[in-house]
Amino acid sequence: MQTVSDFFAENVFDESVMKARLPRETYKKVQESLNYGKRLDIAVANVVANAMKDWAIEKGATHYTHWFQPMTGITAEKHDSFIHTSSDGKVIMEFSGKELIQGEPDASSFPSGGLRATFEARGYTAWDPTSFAFIKDGVLCIPTAFCSYGGEALDKKTPLLRSMEAINRQALRVLKLFGHDNVTSVKTTVGPEQEYFLVDADMYAKRKDLIYTGRTLFGAKPPKGQELEDHYFGVIKPRVQAFMKELNEELWKLGVLAKTEHNEVAPAQHELAPIFATTNIATDHNQLTMELMQKIAKRHNMVCLLHEKPFAGVNGSGKHNNWSISTDTGINLLEPGDTPYENAQFLLFLCAVIKAVDDYQELLRISVASAGNDHRLGANEAPPAVVSMFIGSELADILHAIETDTPYGAKEKEILKVGVHVLPKFPKDTTDRNRTSPFAFTGNKFEFRMLGSSASISDANVVLNTAVAEELRQFADELEGVTDFPAALHALIKKTIAEHKRIIFNGNGYDDAWIAEAEKRGLANLKTTPECLPYMLHEKNVSLFTEHKVYTESEIKSRFEIAAENYCKVISIEAKTMIDMARHDILPAVSKYQHELADTAAAKKQFGADDTYEVDLVKQISKQAALAYKELKALEDTLPAAREITDTEKCAKYYRESVFNAMNALRISVDELETLTAADYWPYPSYADLLFSVR
Ligand code: ADP
Ligand code: MG
Repeated sequence: MQTVSDFFAENVFDESVMKARLPRETYKKVQESLNYGKRLDIAVANVVANAMKDWAIEKGATHYTHWFQPMTGITAEKHDSFIHTSSDGKVIMEFSGKELIQGEPDASSFPSGGLRATFEARGYTAWDPTSFAFIKDGVLCIPTAFCSYGGEALDKKTPLLRSMEAINRQALRVLKLFGHDNVTSVKTTVGPEQEYFLVDADMYAKRKDLIYTGRTLFGAKPPKGQELEDHYFGVIKPRVQAFMKELNEELWKLGVLAKTEHNEVAPAQHELAPIFATTNIATDHNQLTMELMQKIAKRHNMVCLLHEKPFAGVNGSGKHNNWSISTDTGINLLEPGDTPYENAQFLLFLCAVIKAVDDYQELLRISVASAGNDHRLGANEAPPAVVSMFIGSELADILHAIETDTPYGAKEKEILKVGVHVLPKFPKDTTDRNRTSPFAFTGNKFEFRMLGSSASISDANVVLNTAVAEELRQFADELEGVTDFPAALHALIKKTIAEHKRIIFNGNGYDDAWIAEAEKRGLANLKTTPECLPYMLHEKNVSLFTEHKVYTESEIKSRFEIAAENYCKVISIEAKTMIDMARHDILPAVSKYQHELADTAAAKKQFGADDTYEVDLVKQISKQAALAYKELKALEDTLPAAREITDTEKCAKYYRESVFNAMNALRISVDELETLTAADYWPYPSYADLLFSVR
């Protein structure tokens, strides 16, 4: 029988394949490029490209593509075949180093936020050798960055790589202070846990809202939702099990370390968690995971919903971004150590993260902002829109003791001196796993839980990496050259705790009292995308990115434009879909039902039955339908004005305040109509049909 290790990464041109297929010298050069970001020269690239092509052809590939991540948040590819004609007119299979290193997709239709006028549509893709090439559906895919000819980033990979470089630079400075001269590179690592829904494909096909917008725009509450909490970690249904098995196998072939899978809280909701990897690889792998989830679900006559809130009143889907920092010598910098020295270093990196989250809370909020995620953040099941950190009571007590020079510990009662004392052991698995915190320390990593399920994890990690890089820069500036390092370090940690402890909150994040308390502490509570996006352009945030060379000012502006525009487009499509459904399907269906009721009532009357329930129901439905019709027209009336607004920021606000509110009003009245209408007449599968469709 074939075992997983027989086929794991069989479709990946990874280090072992390179080692086996490349001449020694070439392999060494590639290694250097992988580890130190050195550029490969064309002669070396030619050798690599040729080996890659031979390997791919042996595996049945005929085409290659530069695989990239434009600002739409999904991946893009344009296939070229290996076919070239030779001088004697015959067909040969070729792939040059030039084709490997650089490509030129005709990508004029991707959003650029004004960075690239369409008349100079040419952007180019550049190979990212740190993420391995792989074969998907008979196509050799080469992970690439996508830039304009002026060098501006047009994708989600370029800034991510730049942010990894930024944190690498600053962390190395700090590590030097602790005597780690042997560390040559520092990388952030990520394990993203992915939530999703599975619904039956036949049911899905009957819902225009799911097809056009990824979420249900109407739908009365089902008699059974998630109140029994019997789905969480429950027995996985055979059809879902078959899907998960195939998904795992396909992911493993691509070298994606899919590790755990289970049912989530809501009916039809599931989760997949991979083993963590370097951030840019984890990002590529998460994209592949989302793509394969959708593709494989179809093979099982199901549809995978990645939307953050497919069903109102039912838990939404997010992504938990487990994040840490480690060295090429294998040290996890967020792992508490065993010696005073290691502890001091741990505390400094911990403080860098605490300060980063406090200083750049708005940017973290923006990094997860989307029309879809607005339904989750601040709702019952997801973290609130207020960014705060959970560090567990043991660690909080330790920080408090350091800050106030008060004794720590039940037994010894000693005053903690950073760099002198061993930290009291705190069992990492009892960090009580606060589930309501947006940003939780879980023993040796942080878990950022505000990410939406459909988004690329790139944005959030760009902010995290860059913000922590900035704090490490400040720390290094302060500590380099001091004469008494332990004393300076202690003072710096003390000061950081005092100034930034407001971001730490170990209680229940869903509690209203916390929102009031957060406000008192001066923490931002940016509930919606239009509310938070403008912070992107604030001086402090712009200089963070420009100083660390992660974004230029025009790149930030373009990203702001794209995000705001995207918000408007999403709401606009949703509004139009609602109008279409209400006008063309729902109201006509309700009329038909009323007609039937009225006919029945008239017939009954002939037999002397006057006071029938049909009469009562017709009256009730008629009233409700009139209300729904009024709300429908009100929604329609909001749209023309939106088209007149040229400023994207204002436009997004308008969509939120006028269009979105009108949508909600229409939904309420239509959902009420659904409860009054016979199931046979209702034009769409109900919530119960959808949520319990997969057996
Ligand atoms: P759980 O949260 O389900 O108890 P774990 O804490 O073991 O499980 O891991 C959750 C996720 O965090 C996994 O994807 C795991 O690979 C990832 N993870 C573990 N260690 C790190 C690390 N050092 N850096 C980034 N992610 C990590
Ligand atoms: Mg977790």
